[in-house]
Amino acid sequence: MQLTIVGNRAGMPADGAASSGYLVETGQSKILLDCGPGIAVALGNYLHPSFLEAVAISHLHLDHVYDVLPVGKQAMRKAEGAPDRRIKLFVPAGARERLDQLAALFPVRSTPDLDRAFDLAYEVVEYEAGSRYTLTDCTLEFVQMAHSEPCCGVRIESPTGSLAFTGDTGWTDNLVTLAAGVDIFLSESTLPEPDTTEHGHLCATEVGRAAAAAGARSVVLTHFGSPLEEWQQARRDEAAAEFGGRVEISRPSMLFAVPVESVRK
Ligand SMILES: [Zn+2]
Repeated sequence: MQLTIVGNRAGMPADGAASSGYLVETGQSKILLDCGPGIAVALGNYLHPSFLEAVAISHLHLDHVYDVLPVGKQAMRKAEGAPDRRIKLFVPAGARERLDQLAALFPVRSTPDLDRAFDLAYEVVEYEAGSRYTLTDCTLEFVQMAHSEPCCGVRIESPTGSLAFTGDTGWTDNLVTLAAGVDIFLSESTLPEPDTTEHGHLCATEVGRAAAAAGARSVVLTHFGSPLEEWQQARRDEAAAEFGGRVEISRPSMLFAVPVESVRK
């Protein structure tokens, strides 16, 4: 299994880096976790979208889903050698209607099929918290998180490794379920201190505690509240104070492989 950081910015893309988007390759399945602004461009550094088996969206905040339409439009023109199938697009229950509204905003009247990415490129699957799906060589499980917009973390298990991704969330005991025993715990680490609002984000100390309680093998921190190196390093140290395993700071284009090691491209 390997994880590629396609984009890791919290909120909008900046400084040439895309918002949330993470490519997980298990051996036979290629899965994109979240698809924020900038991912439609950045993903092209790694693969053509028509090679994806699935795209899983944690929640419907713009910075996690906005590029799902352009990625679908890219996938409608298949790359040579790409499999003849639609991409499974996992979205929160009720999202399909909003996706259709998005696609309808900019009609291509001369070529109506171009407006049908959510039918032709994707097979849209509305998931419920607690549901589990089987792909070619892995399973995806959606675990309820705590965020102002309904959000599920995604757990991927395959013969080549396991990974858990939080999406956006405040503290919830479900983090321990999500990350139980995983090789890579890819966690948002937005705040320098625990969230006291209703919005729902994690600080690095909470990430470290969740990873330790879950028995995760490594932590990759992402979705930082600041792009500053020292700020992020401080968050790494806070997580590492709670968790004895490896703790890494994500950056675009970094690759993390199981067994856990990191290679900066
Ligand atoms: Zn959010």
